[in-house]
Amino acid sequence: MSIQYKSIKELKNMLNDKDISHTELVQETFLNIKNNSALNAFITLNEEESLKKANNLDNTPSSGSLAGVPIAQKDLFCTKDLKTTCGSNMLSNFIPPYSATVIENLENAGCISVGKTNMDEFAMGSSNETSFYGNVQNPWGKNLVPGGSSGGSAAAVAAGIVPAASGTDTGGSIRQPASLCGISGLKPTYGRVSRWGMIAFASSLDQAGPMARTAEDCALLLNEMCSHDEKDTTSIDEAIPDFTENLNSSIQGLKIGLVKEFDLSKLDNDVVQVFEESKKHYESLGAEFIEISLPNISLSVPTYYVVAPAECSSNLSRFDGVKFGKRCDSPKDLEELYIKTRSEGFGDEVKRRILIGSYVLSAGFYDAYYKKAQQVRRLIKNDFDSAFKSVDIIMSPTTRGAAFEAGSKGDDPIQMYLEDLFTIPANLAGLPAMSIPNGMIDNKPIGLQLIGNFLDESRLLQAAHNFQISSDWHLKTPSGNKS
Ligand code: GLN
Repeated sequence: MSIQYKSIKELKNMLNDKDISHTELVQETFLNIKNNSALNAFITLNEEESLKKANNLDNTPSSGSLAGVPIAQKDLFCTKDLKTTCGSNMLSNFIPPYSATVIENLENAGCISVGKTNMDEFAMGSSNETSFYGNVQNPWGKNLVPGGSSGGSAAAVAAGIVPAASGTDTGGSIRQPASLCGISGLKPTYGRVSRWGMIAFASSLDQAGPMARTAEDCALLLNEMCSHDEKDTTSIDEAIPDFTENLNSSIQGLKIGLVKEFDLSKLDNDVVQVFEESKKHYESLGAEFIEISLPNISLSVPTYYVVAPAECSSNLSRFDGVKFGKRCDSPKDLEELYIKTRSEGFGDEVKRRILIGSYVLSAGFYDAYYKKAQQVRRLIKNDFDSAFKSVDIIMSPTTRGAAFEAGSKGDDPIQMYLEDLFTIPANLAGLPAMSIPNGMIDNKPIGLQLIGNFLDESRLLQAAHNFQISSDWHLKTPSGNKS
């Protein structure tokens, strides 16, 4: 029986009904990974260990909610005894001595980490073209990018290899690739999911979350990913709800905000039309639309590209040839050790961010750039706070268009940075946001973004699930509609 494109729920049923054994499920998964090797979605496979775990589950059944579910893990999460590269040459030989809390939580729930997925180097990028391990191909088209930085995770789910994957989102890296690959992805509230063991890009923005075909599967994963973690000082100590509980409750009367300042007329007609269709769909489900104003929203991208590089320049200073990963050959002194290791270990985009970050943090420019950006960030957060007084969620397209051709934006970093126009604001404000497939443009999927209030993931998942039980965009696959 084929397991391709099956959801977590379907695979769990197959395992419970003994239609397939745990070992067969893992064997099939690795077969699918190998048949899809052209996608370049994985950097490291974890085959032997996965089969061992499956065999154990066949012999000793487990009650874990995700027992036996194969999951792909973004190669940004530290995994004990399993190579973790973060898409970089710098960490090409790094084998962590411990696992990230997210990985531990998922594995404690019984899921099997089948491998580590390809990604933009240190999660910097929107097309998976900055990875040291090569581009990832979008399953929807040979030359199409899968989005980034969680491009390998998105491609692995979109190709139906695994039902779900972990991702991280600093400015859009779960939602943008979810949109471009036609899957669902959720960035939780900042602090909802522990960052311990996640290799840091921009610590005040980074957040891990689930990527899967359906909102329901995202809820199942989020239930296990979240935990209060004393090892992460920004981890939120609040009760964690069962995110599946309200999925089927009606959204009659849900107030959805439309952002006045998002000028959709600048987007392609097709994108606007898909968005309008989704509005009608939500109206038919009983939602009402209210125009809201986020006056400072247009400053989000420039603000992000000061704050994120500043934090990255500081975080990445730990990669110096001494503590982790790569060390250059025969340096003549300590200075050359630093310079050569970092010159060889980092790719161009990472170097660009380190340079920008060091500049905006330097004594002469700190007030003009970094401090100013922090102030604007607060204004953006205040805008959202006011808006959520009158609406329950906010809706926009996730991306400005569908997947683009590899190489088409390579020379122009600004065009690439604008890919995250709609996603960055939620990171700056620390709010939960998700993307679900809501249409096709020229045979390529595209996503709808739903932004929620602080800690209100349940409502986002409910709105997304209601959309999915009354539409079939999330069931489309690169090889035809899923029956
Ligand atoms: N594309 C954005 C960037 O390059 C966001 C990346 C992310 O969310 N990790 O910074």
